[in-house]
Amino acid sequence: MRVLRLHDRRDLRLHDEPVPEAAPGESLVRVVSVGLCGSDVHWLVEGGIGSQFLDAPMVLGHEFAGVIKSGAREGERVAVDPAIACGNCEFCLEGNPNFCTSLRFPGPGGYDGALQEYVVWPTRFLHLLPDSRTPFPPLMGRC
Ligand SMILES: [Zn+2]
Ligand SMILES: [Zn+2]
Repeated sequence: MRVLRLHDRRDLRLHDEPVPEAAPGESLVRVVSVGLCGSDVHWLVEGGIGSQFLDAPMVLGHEFAGVIKSGAREGERVAVDPAIACGNCEFCLEGNPNFCTSLRFPGPGGYDGALQEYVVWPTRFLHLLPDSRTPFPPLMGRC
């Protein structure tokens, strides 16, 4: 599959990498639409944001949607929550996962973002899109 990695500031390279495999509790998602956030622009132009800097090639894009490609929900359209809370810390247990002390998020030292054809994501962080939502534009569906 095609993967767009940022190697340095203004240095994006297209790679051919294996499609990842989903483990139990995860789903393989074909990425269909990716929004580029202001933080992605900082990474691209400056090679970092705030006190964080690029230390290894990474994949940008943490605001995205796609179609599930594996398991019982294959074919369902989903919006993806990029902030993967642990579910076990005191904040998660009190119902405030946005304060999770072990939050995983695409970026340096975390895991790759969505500027690639497929991602594996924890199924509980995929949100099914209702049929009433606008279909993905046809051009964006041709990954
Ligand atoms: Zn963002
Ligand atoms: Zn937590």
